[in-house]
Amino acid sequence: MNESNLTDFYRELGISGRVFDFGKQILEELEERFHNIDETAEYNQMKVLKAMQENKVSEACLLGTTGYGYNDLGRETLESVYAAVFHTEDALVRPQITCGTHALALALMSNLRPGDELLSPVGKPYDTLEEVIGIRPSRGSLKEYGITYRQVDLLPDGGFDYEEIAGALNERTRVVTIQRSKGYQTRPTLSVQRIGELISFIKERKPDCFCMVDNCYGEFVERLEPSDVGADMCVGSLIKNPGGGLAPIGGYIAGTKECVENAACRLTSPGLGKEVGASLGILPQFYQGLFLAPTVTASALKGAVFAANIYERLGLRVVPDGKESRHDIIQAVTFGTPEGLIAFCEGIQEAAPVDSYVRPEPWDMPGYDSQVIMAAGAFVSGSSIELSADGPLKPPYAAYFQGGLTWPHAKFGILKSLQHCVEAKAVQLP
Ligand SMILES: *Cc1c(COP(=O)(O)O)cnc(C)c1O
Repeated sequence: MNESNLTDFYRELGISGRVFDFGKQILEELEERFHNIDETAEYNQMKVLKAMQENKVSEACLLGTTGYGYNDLGRETLESVYAAVFHTEDALVRPQITCGTHALALALMSNLRPGDELLSPVGKPYDTLEEVIGIRPSRGSLKEYGITYRQVDLLPDGGFDYEEIAGALNERTRVVTIQRSKGYQTRPTLSVQRIGELISFIKERKPDCFCMVDNCYGEFVERLEPSDVGADMCVGSLIKNPGGGLAPIGGYIAGTKECVENAACRLTSPGLGKEVGASLGILPQFYQGLFLAPTVTASALKGAVFAANIYERLGLRVVPDGKESRHDIIQAVTFGTPEGLIAFCEGIQEAAPVDSYVRPEPWDMPGYDSQVIMAAGAFVSGSSIELSADGPLKPPYAAYFQGGLTWPHAKFGILKSLQHCVEAKAVQLP
């Protein structure tokens, strides 16, 4: 198809010539960034492929078991593949882990004992972990089991408060939890290198504690994973990066033999551990999703970089900014007005392959203190490796954007959001 046909296509799908041309102009400046993203994807693709070949993934691995799931070759091989990708002794990769929060709760609850203390040296953890830990009182929290929690906030410049961290470590500190992605906060996302520096500092003072990294949204963004720099456990969700958009459920914990065994005994039962847990028919999606994950993550990253540069050029505050190096796939765009946030989300929704004709509306979501708007037209419900956006309807009216299974789709979604924002007069093209 030649270029003029392509713009016709865009026009039919609601993108004006001006919006398309503005996007094209921004893209011309991103060639080198995109090239670097592709090189990381190539590296990680080889890493995943090598792990699959070395572990002799076979056609038989794609079959599933039922019932107890004893001797599930596909499940056991997949867990070895994850361990090889993350360079860990072992891994637990299961559809019975229902989401990212569940995987994190499992890693924490299984590796802490009554009387132990959990430390977060990087400030407040992700919202849903507040109830897991008991920062907000909740049934079944770590706090109810007599596990205490300590937190050291980052310094105002985003650095680690080493003095406070050293003071917070004590004989009861058993697990240290480090969140890689900023989540819905304004702090920068941690690079793997910085996570490594933090872990070294902690292990020098407390060699027997377990360092767990909440790896959500970070997988395959860099060449190294936190487990390459000393983390005892990397934990995440399969409906984010490592599921490659194909996994319809699931979570993983990749780590030391001891930590993974603790988690397995908690997920199933003491005495049963990793030996049970039928994979049913889900393994082809887990394998193929992991195989695609490096390039899918690259598509999402290109979308994030493109969005940052578009909206930065139009004068909005974006985090990370257009030039910064990336350590996760989330992009925040601050609109300052509810109209801008809503228009952005409407555009993302209209670009979706599923439910493109519905209009997202702000609603009172449980657990939030303001209305929230969400745009998602995904094949897997709630999947945020697919093109999606959301934001709370309160100042500074920031949209959090992530995902895109293919780069052309991520690009289209961002142009659609821009079209809506231009029409709502939330931004003005130069
Ligand atoms: C998504 C996410 C979680 C929780 O995952 P869910 O699957 O939504 O339960 C935890 N931490 C971070 C940083 C996340 O991005």
